[in-house]
Amino acid sequence: MDAFETLLKSSAAAHGHLCPGQVVGVRMAMLGCRLIGLDNPGCREQIKKLLVYVEMDRCTADAVAHVTGVKLGRRSLKFMDYGIMAATFVNLETGQSFRVLSTEESRDLCDVYAPEIADKREQQLTAYQRMPESVLFRVQSVHVAVDELDLPGPTRQKKTCTRCGQVVRDGRHRMENGRPVCKLCAGQGYFSHAREITWPDMDQSPVI
Ligand SMILES: [Zn+2]
Ligand SMILES: [Zn+2]
Repeated sequence: MDAFETLLKSSAAAHGHLCPGQVVGVRMAMLGCRLIGLDNPGCREQIKKLLVYVEMDRCTADAVAHVTGVKLGRRSLKFMDYGIMAATFVNLETGQSFRVLSTEESRDLCDVYAPEIADKREQQLTAYQRMPESVLFRVQSVHVAVDELDLPGPTRQKKTCTRCGQVVRDGRHRMENGRPVCKLCAGQGYFSHAREITWPDMDQSPVI
């Protein structure tokens, strides 16, 4: 794994800005990987062994994903919408799993670790780099029961929704009177008022 400074730089570039969340996220990911025994999670042999559950969709999540190389499209990045500054690192080979939480105290201790900096954000940026892991994080050893249908790799199951006809992958369907339906048809949609539209140049393709 690259050095902290290198990872912070590339993480900030990928995220779009350098922020306290990048510092916390890079350190969280480095610690998490170390705990589960992966020293270079981005390499071919190790990327397949790693699952990361992030519990917030904030700056820190981008840094954790960047450093570990986990991706939504590879199913190695799991988003748990808890609003908690924490991530769990799972080694699929050994089963080792650790949940790393950013401490609430760390936010209050920024002026102890960077007293010479007045600007709040700049102070956080520096303080989070200076704090020892014991101040910045709490770590829990956890057990994660990973469902086979949540694993990376080929699609394990496909069901066709008996109401709308869409194919539902990886066991995400619901059963309704013994027949598979998608979550939307089961009334668990996140949108409403869906209406199919057309547009004037809809017969265009990017490649001719
Ligand atoms: Zn940010
Ligand atoms: Zn459906």
